[in-house]
Amino acid sequence: MSALAEKQEAGVAVVTGGTRGIGAAIADALRADGWTVVTIGRTSGDVQADVGSPEDVARAVEEIHEKFGKVLVLVNNAGITRDGLALRMTDSDWGDVVDTNLSGAFGFTRGVMGDMLRARWGRIVNVSSIVATRAQAGQANYIASKAGLLGLTGALAKEIGKRGVTVNAITPGFIETDMTAELDTDKLVEFIPAGRVGKPEEVAAAVRFLCSAEAGYINGATLSVDGGMGA
Ligand code: NDP
Repeated sequence: MSALAEKQEAGVAVVTGGTRGIGAAIADALRADGWTVVTIGRTSGDVQADVGSPEDVARAVEEIHEKFGKVLVLVNNAGITRDGLALRMTDSDWGDVVDTNLSGAFGFTRGVMGDMLRARWGRIVNVSSIVATRAQAGQANYIASKAGLLGLTGALAKEIGKRGVTVNAITPGFIETDMTAELDTDKLVEFIPAGRVGKPEEVAAAVRFLCSAEAGYINGATLSVDGGMGA
């Protein structure tokens, strides 16, 4: 049995926001690699939970442990936007985005990292965004949350890297999903060297690699999947 197959016998992969868009493609890619995947969403998924609620996260982690077992791969992908200029941004628009995108990732990670530490093997991938390092107007909440995810990634890599657990981040550019459905594609494509928007499967391929056995020496890294937009 290969080293990865042994891990797949011992534990499962969890993808938050794994029910649609990028998360669903990540779930498919990990399944294709042999993982049993548990998807998390508010309205559907193998386990339903709002990652922005610490109570929900605690309950979801308990449910995953009871129904599916240990978690050896975690992809913190659930995310939302509540765009607007900072001057008019409400506390709830700020709080909902930071709670979901950043605190949700922290809560889920804290809940399952014990499984990985005990197994002396694990993979955590945080789905950040190109805007974490290339800010734009009108998304202070979202950008702060995504930049925070890069900080969280580095801090965790330093804390748990010794125990065979890697923590990395992905920064997608403009990917065609429900989240970007309202945006003007023609205008945005001008800024993308690839000359097109990305597909969820292209982000999923990068996540799949970071979760593989071969990626064991990649820790605390950020991998851009943006068609060259951030170069
Ligand atoms: P979608 O809006 O298509 O899907 C979001 C997913 O997250 C859904 O499965 C949704 O399920 C889930 N979700 C949202 N809020 C919560 C919550 N509070 N608790 C649990 N699940 C939640 O988004 P994308 O696929 O486009 O985005 C996925 C990730 O990629 C996000 O973090 C996003 O910020 C990031 N990203 C996306 C880019 C893009 O261009 N699309 C670019 C850069 C980063 P449900 O509604 O059932 O809760």
